[in-house]
Order: sequence, then C-alpha cells, then structure tokens
Amino acid sequence: MTTLTIRTQSRCEMIDITERIAEKVRESGIREGLCRVFIPHTTAAVTINENADPDVPLDILAALDRTVPLSGHYRHTEGNSAAHIKASLFGASQTVFIEDGRLVLGTWQSLFFCEFDGPRTRKVLVGLAAG
Ligand code: ZN
Repeated sequence: MTTLTIRTQSRCEMIDITERIAEKVRESGIREGLCRVFIPHTTAAVTINENADPDVPLDILAALDRTVPLSGHYRHTEGNSAAHIKASLFGASQTVFIEDGRLVLGTWQSLFFCEFDGPRTRKVLVGLAAG
C-alpha cells in the first residue's frame, strides 16, 4: 500500500487524481491486477466520472449541494453533517482493473478525490495487487 497526500483548496471540490494513481501503477511494475483506492476520512470520498468537460464535476458538486444543504436540521454538533452525508453517498473506495500496466478506465472516466469539508490535508491510500 502507498499513500498520496492531497492539499485541498476549498470546502468542496473534486480533484482528478487519475495520473497520480497511474504513476503508482507504473512504479509498481504490475502488468495485470487490481488497483484499490481508499480514502481514510469521513468527510471526503472517491468517485469515477467525467473530466473531459470540467463542467461535469462542477455540476455534480452543485447538485450535491442542492440535495444535501450545508445547514439544516442536523444533530451532529461539529457542523459538518452535510460533508459526512456526501462522503457516504460517494463512498470511501473504488477498484479499477490494471491491464498492460495501465488503469482500465472508460474513455471519459477519471478518478476524482472528493473534498466535502476542506480545505484540509488529505490522504489517499493506494493498494495494488497483481493477478
Ligand atoms: Zn463531523
């Protein structure tokens, strides 16, 4: 397992980490296998979606804000319940196949680190397995 460190810049943002993950795959020398990306935080997540049009992640974040408002009738006194809910909606991990030493992603797919309670310094755990 290896770790990436990400410094997020705003409260909510989606950061394309595909190339940083692909670099870990290349460094490993693994040709065929699985790449697991895990986010060890309760107010951040990882998802796969389109980054060819940068408006797509912006639309996703805007729709999430409408669906899970920042303030509302939440019990959690820390004040970041919306971030916890968004993180659970997206989930803490993604798995991508490795073939010929490359991540197998669809033409328009990118791996995004999703910050929902930034700015913060975050970790992304990357597990690679041959086979
Ligand atoms: Zn909290």
